[in-house]
Amino acid sequence: MSKPVIALVGRPNVGKSTLFNRLTRTRDAIVADYPGLTRDRQYGTGRTGNHPYIVVDTGGLSGEQEGVDPLMAGQVRSAIEESDAILFLVDGRAGLIPADEAIANYIRQFNKPTYLLVNKAEGHSHQLISADFFQMGLGQPFVISSAHGDNVKETIDHILDEVVTEEEEEKAFDLDEHPGIRVAVVGRPNVGKSTLINRMIGEERVVAFDMPGTTRDSIFVPFERDGQAYTLIDTAGVRRRKNIKEKIEKFSIVKAIEAMESCNVVVLVIDGSEGITDQDLTLLGLALESGRGLVIAINKWDNLTEDQRNKIKHELEFKLHFVDYAKKHLISALHGSGVGDLFKTIRGVYQAVMKKVSTSDLNRVLEQAVLDHQPPLIGGRRVKLRYAHLGGSNPPRVIIHGTQVDKLPQAYTKYLMNVFRKAFKWQGTPVFIEYKVTV
Ligand code: GDP
Ligand code: GDP
Repeated sequence: MSKPVIALVGRPNVGKSTLFNRLTRTRDAIVADYPGLTRDRQYGTGRTGNHPYIVVDTGGLSGEQEGVDPLMAGQVRSAIEESDAILFLVDGRAGLIPADEAIANYIRQFNKPTYLLVNKAEGHSHQLISADFFQMGLGQPFVISSAHGDNVKETIDHILDEVVTEEEEEKAFDLDEHPGIRVAVVGRPNVGKSTLINRMIGEERVVAFDMPGTTRDSIFVPFERDGQAYTLIDTAGVRRRKNIKEKIEKFSIVKAIEAMESCNVVVLVIDGSEGITDQDLTLLGLALESGRGLVIAINKWDNLTEDQRNKIKHELEFKLHFVDYAKKHLISALHGSGVGDLFKTIRGVYQAVMKKVSTSDLNRVLEQAVLDHQPPLIGGRRVKLRYAHLGGSNPPRVIIHGTQVDKLPQAYTKYLMNVFRKAFKWQGTPVFIEYKVTV
């Protein structure tokens, strides 16, 4: 159930970010242009065929002398440790160079499934361009062109087929057995996640379910409140720390992404005394991309000076345009103030994202939207939006069929999003719109 994580490793300039962009492109296309959205260019999600995955670009390893730039080493190491497979990229045009061998040696110590990808191969004989690389002892190289897409899909399919084992499926926490609202509590270390989680769950005796496997796994905690069932997805590991003496939380973006993907509603906790940091913005960007419902909790409100309060209110207004659909709550996890309201919002968002919308209602709203505001002329011809249907909920995905829809400007998509949001009261959730070209 949890998505396999693949790490892209290699020297600078071998084409990692080009491959990364190709592997995460589907998501980019869905998420419209939100001004101010911070994208983490290192972490992304994608899907090929039946396989969803998380991809991490580990950045450049120099491969010089000790093999790795010591400053980078820590980050790269934890990225690799969190991954299920290593995709080691080399530059087919440059041929095998000593730095590649140094990186190969570095990678070997992790004992992870490793795949050698020979990139920049377009227009070259696969046999010739990969010949050099056999001697690295990493098996048959996959010959690809990230820039042109040659053999990329086939390679990723093959790798994911091998990585996703049945064993992993069995280990997964069975969400079907625990119906109710799945809430992921995410945030940087020390913002108060554990304190909030304990508040939310109260003194109830709960059984925590570990998602066993790797270090990055979250804990699932089913509980009830006011007659409503919830499963809390605890990325801070608070409920585990109680049992086993666990070392301090290690911040993991992958863990946050996975928690977001497994939930209905994300509660993103921000430390009010620190303001909104770049890492908070990264997490918010990921929350948007995940498509889940979102509530923002500004924590430690009890402990803020008047200046700090004003500063954060200002930041909320000016930094968070791209998640303007999310409600902001000023809370104190320590004292419990605001937590009741937080629950109300979570329930409201859940109801909004699960709401059934009929095709006829959807089309009625689309028709009216087009009447109010015609799509533009493109190449002298009017873009026609013929009909729509709902492609899914949580997030609501509206699929619109029409002519030249692939050429619609972002502003029009934004307009439609707002119209749909208003009409169907899709509060606290992004609305994804996809187009299908008909002739
Ligand atoms: P990174 O430093 O490993 O992330 O490498 P980049 O993705 O930034 O790519 C480095 C350079 O190689 C850029 O100029 C890319 O356009 C180019 N590049 C990447 N993939 C390919 C490819 O498949 N073929 C060719 N010819 N160039 C590529
Ligand atoms: P986590 O790393 O995100 O799980 O954060 P913790 O829940 O461990 O909290 C980090 C620190 O912030 C602890 O010392 C908490 O007591 C403190 N803290 C958490 N919530 C609040 C709050 O609402 N107000 C104040 N003043 N301190 C808080």
